[in-house]
Amino acid sequence: MRRPTSVASDYDFIFKIVVIGDSSVGKSNLLLRFTRNEFRLDTQSTIGVEFANKQVIVDGKRIKTQVWDTAGQERFKTVIPQFYRGSEGALVVFDLTKWDTFEHVSTWVEEVYRHTPADLPIVLVGNKSDLIEQRRVSREQATALAEQLNLSYMETSALDATNVEAAFILLVSSIYEKRKPLQI
Ligand code: GDP
Ligand code: MG
Repeated sequence: MRRPTSVASDYDFIFKIVVIGDSSVGKSNLLLRFTRNEFRLDTQSTIGVEFANKQVIVDGKRIKTQVWDTAGQERFKTVIPQFYRGSEGALVVFDLTKWDTFEHVSTWVEEVYRHTPADLPIVLVGNKSDLIEQRRVSREQATALAEQLNLSYMETSALDATNVEAAFILLVSSIYEKRKPLQI
């Protein structure tokens, strides 16, 4: 979004990003880890905010991300349309230790596309990679689904911070690459 040059701005772009997926896959903790470098065992009662901001640098540009959390609405397998309004990218998250959350990925992707442009960048995220013994979804299975749905794929751990920033940066870079040709 271009801002009037007369207004001093602390960023070059602002991107709204939504984080979606089944309940308890770790969406709120991915957001917490990325924006505040924190992790919580019980986020249900502590997270009341709808979104949090974090600035990243991509291609030398200061990009302010506004990352939106569902705040528990996803329990009803859908969220209100306002959640998606104006979003430029999505992280669709599943839990590597829960097969059913992986099975629901395509439903969440369909829901995202129902509310956003068809070419919206989406990164598929398999979270809780630290729980090695409990893993139920292989990297191959997830990669195959990502290819089928034409998404990027990353495995993260909000607990030990593995790939969390990388997943968000990958999404931000995809959004930026899409927007770059539109700049004058
Ligand atoms: P949400 O419902 O998708 O927002 O999920 P939460 O962020 O509330 O996380 C649900 C539960 O999973 C909480 O008990 C978290 O502490 C836990 N959790 C989230 N991410 C991870 C992770 O990467 N590894 C492990 N081991 N637990 C996680
Ligand atoms: Mg949550």
